[in-house]
This record gives sequence, C-alpha cells and structure tokens, in this order.
Amino acid sequence: MQELLTNTKTAFKYKSTSDLKLAKWIYGLMHQYPDLVLGLSKVGMTAVEWRLPFAGHIVYNTFYKVFCGGKDLEDCIPVINNLHEHSVLTVLDYGAEAKDTEKEYEAVTQEFLKAIRFAGKHKGVPIISLKITALADFDLLEAYSNGSTSKSNHQVDAWNRVKERFELICKSAYKADVSIFVDAEESWLQGAIDSLVLAMMKKYNTKKAVIYNTYQMYLKSSMNRLQKHHHELSGLGIILGAKNVRGAYMEKESARAKKFGYEDPVHTSKTGTDNAYNKSIGYCFENREEIAFCCATHNRESCILLLELVKQHGVENHPNVMFCQLYGMSDNLTFNLAAQGLKSMKYLPYGSVENTFPYLVRRAQENTSVTNDASREYLMISKELDRREKAEK
Ligand SMILES: Cc1cc2nc3c(=O)[nH]c(=O)nc-3n(C[C@H](O)[C@H](O)[C@H](O)COP(=O)(O)OP(=O)(O)OC[C@H]3O[C@@H](n4cnc5c(N)ncnc54)[C@H](O)[C@@H]3O)c2cc1C
Repeated sequence: MQELLTNTKTAFKYKSTSDLKLAKWIYGLMHQYPDLVLGLSKVGMTAVEWRLPFAGHIVYNTFYKVFCGGKDLEDCIPVINNLHEHSVLTVLDYGAEAKDTEKEYEAVTQEFLKAIRFAGKHKGVPIISLKITALADFDLLEAYSNGSTSKSNHQVDAWNRVKERFELICKSAYKADVSIFVDAEESWLQGAIDSLVLAMMKKYNTKKAVIYNTYQMYLKSSMNRLQKHHHELSGLGIILGAKNVRGAYMEKESARAKKFGYEDPVHTSKTGTDNAYNKSIGYCFENREEIAFCCATHNRESCILLLELVKQHGVENHPNVMFCQLYGMSDNLTFNLAAQGLKSMKYLPYGSVENTFPYLVRRAQENTSVTNDASREYLMISKELDRREKAEK
C-alpha cells in the first residue's frame, strides 16, 4: 500500500517536463535557501502591492505558475480540464483574503456567485471554497463568537448583511448543484462561523452535503465539536459536511493564548494533532452515511489510513468520502488515490498576483518550515525527472 502513494509516474503524468523543471527549481529554492525565500517574499509583497511591473511578472512566472490555476476563471480552464482528464476534481479557491469594507464584501460575494455559475457548467468542478472573513468584518465575527456584541443597530445590521450574503451564496450553490467548503480560520471566529454554517446546512444538506464546515484537528476541542455537530444534525435528518484539516494558524493560536493567559487550545505535540486527526477520519468514516467528509491533508499516513479503511469495506465509490490536496503539492497522493478510483481533488487558487500573494507567501513559509515538505516534494520531482530522462534514452 505504501508504495502506491509514491509512484511518481502516476503522480506527475499530468505535468510536462518543463512544468516539472520549474517546480523542482522552486522547491529547491525553498529547501536550500529558506531565509532567502522568506526575505524575498516580504520584499515581494511590497513590490507587488506597489504594482511594480517586474515584481508581478517574476512572481507570475515562478511561484504563481506552480501553485495557482489562473488569473480568472476562464484562465483556469486548461488546468481544470487537465486535472479532470486524470480523474482529479477541482475545488475552486478564489484568492480573497480577509476584506474590510462593505464594498469589498459585496464584490467578493459577486466573485463567489460567478464561481458557482462557472462550476455549475464544468463537471470537473463540484465544489468552491470560501473564507467567511472575505464576507464579514473580523471584529464582528469575533464579537458574535464570544458573545460580546453590543447589539447596536449598526452591529445588528452588519450581521444581517453577512447572513444575507452567505445565504445568497449557499442558495445559488444548491440550485447549481455545487458544494461549498467553508474554510476554518482563527479559533476565536469559529463560533460565529459555526452558527452561519450550521444554519445553512440545516436548510440545504437535506439530501446530500452542499455546505461543508472545516474541523481543525490541532485544536483540542475539535473532536467534541465535530461529534456535537454530527449529533445535532443527524437528529434532524441532516447530513453534516466536514472538511478535516490539521490547522494552519498554530503560531497565532499559541501567541493569543499566551497574551490573554488562557490554556493553549492547540495539542501540545505534533503526535497529539496526528492522533486527533486520524481519530476524526475514523469517526467520519464510521458515520459516512450521515457525514460527507474530506480528508484534506498532505500527510501520507493519514491518507493511507483512510485508503485502507475504504479498501477493507469496498467503498471506493462512496460519494461521502473524499481526499484533497493543494494544487502544486503532494501530487503523489492526489493522483495515486485517483488512479485507485477514489474521489480525489485539488484546491485550485486563482486570482490576480496581488490577491494571491499572501497565499503564495504561506506556501513558501510552510515549505521552508521544519516539516521538510520542500525536500519531500523536491526528491519526488527529481525522481520523476530522472525516470523520464532514462525512459527517453
Ligand atoms: C485541501 C486543504 C484545505 C485546507 N483548508 C484549511 C482550512 O480551511 N483551515 C486551516 O486552518 N487549514 C487548512 N488547510 C491547511 C492545513 O490545516 C494544514 O496546515 C496543512 O495541510 C499541513 O498539515 P497536513 O495535515 O497536510 O500535514 P502535516 O505536515 O503532517 O502536519 C502539519 C500540521 O501539523 C500541526 N502541527 C505541526 N507541529 C505541531 C506541534 N508541535 N503541535 C501540534 N500540532 C502541530 C499543524 O496543524 C501543522 O500545520 C488545508 C489544507 C488542505 C490540503
């Protein structure tokens, strides 16, 4: 089983040799010169914000090409089709980080509606993802999460507008037969996000999962939250949509806990998070008739765990069991799982270089971190390039 998820011929069959060479160069940079890449990403952010033409051009032809699908939806079509031809589905991820004004929230809502209409017409795109902070004020979400709302007219109106925007998106998705992955962000916003998402699940997840919440298993509280949501919804005959991740805001979570003097909400070790993650996957699998779930991870052990469960029970085609990785990362998992008939997907970010730049910086940080992700990708790509060279001789 282990070898099956490392077959590089299957993993990279959708990539041309020149694309692979670019990816190898990028991963090589991140692995060998992490400080340089992190330094450049800070300078790059300013240069891109100032719209210095050469900066946008350099980012577009390097990092952007490896990790993003295109500047707009039409631009993504070749990538979506290429993935689909290799049995991999796309989750469209519009590059909209936290926004601040009502005008921006409205504009982003229109972008999500556009993405839903597009997905409705493209078989290879069953899902779009969104961040609630692209639709709502951060402080408002925090206040509604911790119950510190003043309930001033201004606040109530703003909250009603958030609900209206989100409901419009969910209703459009339901009508177009497209699903929505709602991303998880900082834990102190999650109460408000849960209340928005659960309300929409109750409305639209009656026959299948249209709306999905995200469970960050690095949080000690997440297993209880997952079970609580499952029980609440199953009692009403509603399907829970769950995207299971480890969590991307570990440093922020710990720093805030320290600042305000409460217990760190994150598991104290990587093993603690790994165990919780795998337990959540086991739980969702056991309850797969009531929970549609996505194993969203680059962790091979977690994927193998779910793959083994699926094989043992002979449910490769189960519509409620999904795998997903980010575009440009862990193709060994995505394409080897797809080749075995599993529902396998890629998160495909798209948008202008300026809008996607914070996302690219996060990928650079992640791949230069202690997890050794960059070297793993680098070795895998190098192995495939060697294989192709030998095959040509
Ligand atoms: C398709 C997809 C969608 C995603 N959506 C979201 C989202 O909505 N919200 C979100 O927050 N993240 C999201 N992520 C990112 C995810 O949470 C992880 O940060 C990332 O995938 C790395 O974790 P991993 O499971 O892939 O692999 P691994 O490399 O095995 O795990 C790394 C993760 O383990 C945890 N960890 C590392 N060190 C420790 C430690 N010392 N103690 C405790 N825990 C530790 C952290 O969560 C870290 O990110 C998504 C990832 C994917 C692939």
